[in-house]
Amino acid sequence: MEDDITRPGDLQHRRARQYAFCASALCFEPVGAGVEGVFDQALTNGLTAIVAHHWKDQESCRGRVKSAAELLKVIEAEGVLVREGVYWVTDNPHTPKPTTSYVDPFEDRPMEVRVMVLREALSATQAIRHARATDDEIGSNLTAAHVDALWELSGHPTLAGLVDVLNEMREERVRGAVSALDDHEQDRAFTYLALLSGEELARRAGVDYVGEYSQEPGDVEECPVCGNISLVLSSHDSEIAEIGVGCCVVCSYERTMDAANDIASSVQFQRAVDRPD
Ligand SMILES: [Zn+2]
Repeated sequence: MEDDITRPGDLQHRRARQYAFCASALCFEPVGAGVEGVFDQALTNGLTAIVAHHWKDQESCRGRVKSAAELLKVIEAEGVLVREGVYWVTDNPHTPKPTTSYVDPFEDRPMEVRVMVLREALSATQAIRHARATDDEIGSNLTAAHVDALWELSGHPTLAGLVDVLNEMREERVRGAVSALDDHEQDRAFTYLALLSGEELARRAGVDYVGEYSQEPGDVEECPVCGNISLVLSSHDSEIAEIGVGCCVVCSYERTMDAANDIASSVQFQRAVDRPD
């Protein structure tokens, strides 16, 4: 760890990514097994990055990164109290405190950290993580306010990558769901194929589907389920226009536009990896 602390540039980036991944995971699964640990990991990494950014070396003590509770104390000591339990983090110690409750949304202000709410969240997560008695037997003691206060940290420039990570994770989940649906469709078609007699299979395999269904060259492709040239296309994917969308006349497998686009994304990715430059 000590070695890491001597390279704050890389380390700050890793802290920001950890914060972003864990905070994004909470967005998808705010309740469930282990969310308290994920919350703590996001909070500790986020606070460490913020404290290290404004008050260098105060994020650690004798080579050990401080706990989230200790980091909140640093913010209380060094930040500007704006109202009960809420602090601005700023490099300028002379930042004027607001004199009224009105906040001009266009004013360039330092970021707020809801220290009191985050401290409450820590005691809620610590109780479960350390097997102490909690109010709820199964669910989490984390509230929406706790998670909101964690998310608000993403307004800090050091942690600004959260939205990008969230979008990456969202796309990954959508791709995973599309791929699972196509797997299910292939299984269904394969089950149907297995019901056909050998004689019927041979008859179907012997048909000239290209001659029968082609309007233009390339309208009929090999089916990934039965292996015949019998996947009759209605269109192509919308990304590279190379992956066929259609239905197999032999086994009934249907490749949807979403499935074709998913394959097209993988093809594009592989081409980018294989490119020599
Ligand atoms: Zn087929």
